[in-house]
Amino acid sequence: MHRFLSLTLVAAACGGPAAVTAPPAVVRPTVDVHAAAESDVNAYVVSDGRGTVIIDATRSSSDARAVAALARTRGDGPVTLLITHGHPDHFLGIGALAAELPGLRVVVARQEIEDDIVGMASWMAGEGWLEHEPAMKPRTEANPDGFDYAGTIEVLPEPRLVLPGGAVLELTADYAPTEAAHMTTIYSRDLGALFTSDLAYHDVHAWLGVGVTVEAATTWQRTLTRLEADWRSARPTIYPGHGAPTDLAVLAATRRYIGDLLEVARASATDEAARDAMIARYPDHANRDFLLAMSIANQRALAAASAE
Ligand SMILES: [Zn+2]
Repeated sequence: MHRFLSLTLVAAACGGPAAVTAPPAVVRPTVDVHAAAESDVNAYVVSDGRGTVIIDATRSSSDARAVAALARTRGDGPVTLLITHGHPDHFLGIGALAAELPGLRVVVARQEIEDDIVGMASWMAGEGWLEHEPAMKPRTEANPDGFDYAGTIEVLPEPRLVLPGGAVLELTADYAPTEAAHMTTIYSRDLGALFTSDLAYHDVHAWLGVGVTVEAATTWQRTLTRLEADWRSARPTIYPGHGAPTDLAVLAATRRYIGDLLEVARASATDEAARDAMIARYPDHANRDFLLAMSIANQRALAAASAE
């Protein structure tokens, strides 16, 4: 926009046409939410009718097929899938999406996120955790029919995606380790939308399981404080990684939740007591059996190790 205006002004100064022509209008995108059956995770479909960006792939092929069907209702233009971070509930649906949407471009904002995905998929395969999604076991010499993550995922050359009608999605991917080692958030001025991925959880127990150290948890809290300040005046709608779209208040709520979980993990005598204490504080939060249970186990183990 600035370059367009300044070129026009230069043209005027040089005796060119004095009238400033309006810049081409941006085609306003829409956003649809697929709240997945598994993991209470979201995928988002942002489309301007001429092309589509899908944000995250969900954890299962069946959820991913539903996301593909949703994307198809928005037109048959090119589709780009952006994976925000290297957790399985955000990337295991890649294979099904690629099968459903021929020509799908799969991207991440930085090389480290591709590395996180490959590392996580390899670890899960080794643990026997991909038996329900065997096609998503990584391709190796021993498993030549496995999924070629590195060959499928492209690292974006710059932190932005542009829809065919001109709407820009601005990506931020330079966060220090928080909920994941690397994280991407996405802002759309045209939608008034900030997609926080897993920096925000809305009425869903947050992941503080394996990989989330106490230091990462406190960095996550500070990151939420900074995001609150950064976005206070623009007041975008927040599209979280887990739970329904909402407003900026979810940032403080997630920060408070992290503090509560750390405190409860330190203070409780057993995992069961910690679980009961968190459920008492958050009776309506979803996903007790996996997200809460794994977070308590990890944070209590970390607290016990640091007390030794
Ligand atoms: Zn997640």
